[in-house]
Amino acid sequence: MSKGSPNGNERIKKKPERRCVGCGETKLKTELVRIVRSPEGEVTVDLTGKKSGRGAYLCHDPACLKKARKSRRLESALSCAIPDEVYAGLEADLIG
Ligand SMILES: [Zn+2]
Repeated sequence: MSKGSPNGNERIKKKPERRCVGCGETKLKTELVRIVRSPEGEVTVDLTGKKSGRGAYLCHDPACLKKARKSRRLESALSCAIPDEVYAGLEADLIG
């Protein structure tokens, strides 16, 4: 055992991880897409990661969006009902 480390306060940088509401896998936040519900109730894909509101994370994969939709996990994560056209918009954003 050596006494102390070379640079006193060595900190382990932990990259932020989030769980996909579709497949349930935990991935790096940067690998996921944030879906956000604005205070006005609008559900959109947050490509900047800076929108305010309640957020949920999905893989960059339409299959995960489908799973999240089928299981209603996205709705429960955002605590709101999500209309079909919103899902269609999210899917288009995920593909595009
Ligand atoms: Zn996923």
